[in-house]
Amino acid sequence: LVARMQPFTSTIFAEMSALAVAHDAVNLGQGFPDSDGPESMLDAARAAITDGFNQYPPGPGIPELREAVAAQQLDDYGLAYDPDTDVLITVGATEAIAGAVLGLVDAGDEVVMIEPYYDAYAATVALAGGVRRTVSLVPDGDGFRLDRDALAAAFSPTTAAVIVNSPHNPTGTILSDDDLAEIARLCIANDVVAITDEVYEHLVFDGAVHRSLATLPGMKERTLRISGAAKTFHVTGWKVGWISGPRELIAAARAAKQYLTYVGSGPFQPAIAHALRNEMDWVRDDAVALGEKRTMLSTALTDAGFSVHRSQGTYFVCADPRPLGVTDGDTFCRELPERIGVAAVPISAFVDDAGPWRHMVRFAFAKSDDAIAEAARRLRTL
Ligand code: PMP
Ligand code: GLN
Repeated sequence: LVARMQPFTSTIFAEMSALAVAHDAVNLGQGFPDSDGPESMLDAARAAITDGFNQYPPGPGIPELREAVAAQQLDDYGLAYDPDTDVLITVGATEAIAGAVLGLVDAGDEVVMIEPYYDAYAATVALAGGVRRTVSLVPDGDGFRLDRDALAAAFSPTTAAVIVNSPHNPTGTILSDDDLAEIARLCIANDVVAITDEVYEHLVFDGAVHRSLATLPGMKERTLRISGAAKTFHVTGWKVGWISGPRELIAAARAAKQYLTYVGSGPFQPAIAHALRNEMDWVRDDAVALGEKRTMLSTALTDAGFSVHRSQGTYFVCADPRPLGVTDGDTFCRELPERIGVAAVPISAFVDDAGPWRHMVRFAFAKSDDAIAEAARRLRTL
């Protein structure tokens, strides 16, 4: 294995899911829901197979899906994208990240990312031969905030891009308007492209509003905005994602994408187009239900003795097990499935400097109420 990939031999999600299976644990590790998405979307996928959507779709994605993606962003954020040139359908948000990074980051270029970072950012920047510059979130009250001075210091003349993920996996933080404004200022001042990972855009709680960085003045023309169907419609196995942005940046991502996978899978594209057009009420209801699950699991973790950070969105909540005498989250998560039959993920897997994050653990709550209740019962035995 080449040196640049050696740190990336296995993903923490696969490792923890394997432990969950081996010990019949409630899997609060890997972020996937344990229930299906809207029935009409599942019907649309079945119909697409019956109707012969079984050969290569167009490389950028079927027009119907590109149009639905553009329409959703116009409706939700007032962002106008031309579905012919400004939208690219990808194999999950994962390929969107890879396409954006491989199309825009040259060997030696620096990419700024917020830490903890989703593992794919680090791996794809390594594939591109780029260098990551991380800026750690800082615990603040019961949540986290961005250290804006550290962010400004991370930008340099060799910065090619900044990757911004809000709502943030793994902490559940929604970046504040002031944080977004500072990111925008730095991108414009340094002529840097923003790659925004907004896969949890619809999954925000307590009346919070998701703001897209691309809506800030001067940003639409320098932002590749990534989202996808996996989390929104409970179809993590369908692998349908997308990027929207100015045509030159989309063309760069498309150049890389066409040699990563050539095209995305056929029958799921019309089904997701259908869901974007017809099932956003289902998504809004789902976000309310998820917010309740967030509260249920956060309460269970507090009752079990964890110090719990407030999750404002996503599928995840971060908990600090130090009140239970645990200082190493990685060891704790590797033992937990066998010890009490619950799987979680250590935050140290998403950082370069484990220091401030060494103890922290991520739990996923996009699970049935029964699964959360069972996990709660098991957690109380800690
Ligand atoms: N970005 C983030 C922040 C994620 O949590 C995930 C997992 N859904 C992805 C990207 C990858 O998405 P997909 O499964 O659509 O490839
Ligand atoms: N995005 C999901 C998570 O953060 C799962 C990703 C994966 O398995 N690669 O848990």
